[in-house]
Amino acid sequence: MAAEPEAAGPAPGSFDLVSDPVETTLGAHGWATLIGCQALDLEPLDLAFRAKVGMQVERNPATRALGARMMRAITLAIAGLGEERLDGRPIAERQVAVGALRLQDVMYIAYTRLADEDAGRYTLYHDVEVCPHCEKKLAPEIEADLYTMRIRVHQATPRAVYRLRRPWRVRGLDVETVTLEPPRVSRAIEPMDEATWASGVMRQVFWVAASIVEINGKPRALSTDDLMTRETPTKTPRKAGISRADWEGLGAAFGAVSLGDVAMSVDWVHDVEDGGCGESIPVQVDLGTSFFGRSGA
Ligand SMILES: [Zn+2]
Repeated sequence: MAAEPEAAGPAPGSFDLVSDPVETTLGAHGWATLIGCQALDLEPLDLAFRAKVGMQVERNPATRALGARMMRAITLAIAGLGEERLDGRPIAERQVAVGALRLQDVMYIAYTRLADEDAGRYTLYHDVEVCPHCEKKLAPEIEADLYTMRIRVHQATPRAVYRLRRPWRVRGLDVETVTLEPPRVSRAIEPMDEATWASGVMRQVFWVAASIVEINGKPRALSTDDLMTRETPTKTPRKAGISRADWEGLGAAFGAVSLGDVAMSVDWVHDVEDGGCGESIPVQVDLGTSFFGRSGA
């Protein structure tokens, strides 16, 4: 779907992607964000932490909505970010700092932190049915080394410019190109309610809206309502709203800068003690599915 970058910009119905991923492992990268490589100091998920989350999230009327509850739990889990110490500071300040993180980083932190049960050993759930080397049947859960997890790291924030096939009109503006970045959690998680979460279509509309940073090359944010507008365009007066093809194109651009970019896999050695062949089996970890179901992107 992604077109090769060229001076004229993307062709209608396609996007240009600026992305500089470097493949490494969690062990080599250490605890740091995937985008921007900010150091992470994470709270251990022990009994004391879980008690704190129970008090400050589950019994807190301020965090009744789903997004607010998730945001508070994520915020409590991050004690330090880059040069900044966050623990000990007022929760509202901590939440602002954490809200600037990107969606896939929060998913990555949540997945790896929940998985890190015992000094890097963790239970990996996978769908590889037989070993690709010895063809023996595999158990659906295996004990793996978290630090062998292959991750993609970006120094710069990925960015996609999508050119619409058919310009659509929103708030009096004929939209021709849309620039997307991985959404910040302050927009992608914090304002999310149960109904949006429960609907695959609404969740995608919500996330695509949250990932839009420019319209026609100028900074501009759009809401979910903006994406669903039926405003009549000036050039094609009988065709209101985003076309199906353009919606799919925007979904693909969103996937390329966010969920689709979280490619993680774990090298797991087929255990000889359990009758395995001792060969390495790469297992794909799909964060989008683990946490949010299919994004539809
Ligand atoms: Zn094997």
